[in-house]
Amino acid sequence: MPEYPEMEHYRTQLSALLGGRKITGAVVNRAATINEPIDVFNSALEGRTILFVERRGKYLLFHLDDGNRLVLHLMLGGWLAYGDEGPKPDSHFQVILSFDGGQSLYFGGLRLGYLHRMTAKAALEKMKELGPEPFDPRLTLEAFRKRLAGRKGKLKTTLTDQKFLAGIGNCYSDEICFDAKLHPAAAANRLDDEESERLYRSVHKVLTEAKEAGGYMGHPLTAGDQLTGGFNERCRVYDRVDEPCVECGTPIKFETLTGRKMFYCPHCQKGHE
Ligand SMILES: [Zn+2]
Repeated sequence: MPEYPEMEHYRTQLSALLGGRKITGAVVNRAATINEPIDVFNSALEGRTILFVERRGKYLLFHLDDGNRLVLHLMLGGWLAYGDEGPKPDSHFQVILSFDGGQSLYFGGLRLGYLHRMTAKAALEKMKELGPEPFDPRLTLEAFRKRLAGRKGKLKTTLTDQKFLAGIGNCYSDEICFDAKLHPAAAANRLDDEESERLYRSVHKVLTEAKEAGGYMGHPLTAGDQLTGGFNERCRVYDRVDEPCVECGTPIKFETLTGRKMFYCPHCQKGHE
């Protein structure tokens, strides 16, 4: 599932491509992807201008010039493509938005994911469920420690809980724990000061690196996009079961923790007995 780095990478690119562009038409091939009748959705969007694109957690919000928002969650398997023609026939995409100038934005893989048209108020209400952004300046080390201390779960489940921090999922929670040399099954509220500081620094370090490298998932947004997916080969534990740890050579271990995949180095990562 795309996480902060992938969605932020999308946001950066889409802001440049779509800011100030007029929607000339919408095609919906899967009614369940949107939240209103197709003809209502289509006629509401036609002629609207996208002012800018915002990201909150794993959501993208397209701000429209009538005050409404298109709220996108890609969930598992969703992806976007932009250009003159999609990489597949149009029927493979759940939604297609066309713009003045002839290009379109293609929404693919939205089986669980969705694109909902909402009022600004409804969108704000929905985003209220989310915890702070990882780079929110108000999330100081002190504030981060306070949040951790109030958690009963393991690190893995805490980091992936969108109410704790918005935007982290299975891949980056593992990469962050590895970077911080902390076991993903360690109790979140039992970290000492040094450990919680390492974790805090690793959240920022790993997410920054991953964003700059274009995230870990495939499907480039545009034909000329060489960056998307660049972090995949730099993942140090995620999806690396049995490969030698880059620090110590111990084979990377795979387990599930309350239904979540968890990859870690049993030698380097401490804090779980
Ligand atoms: Zn190791």
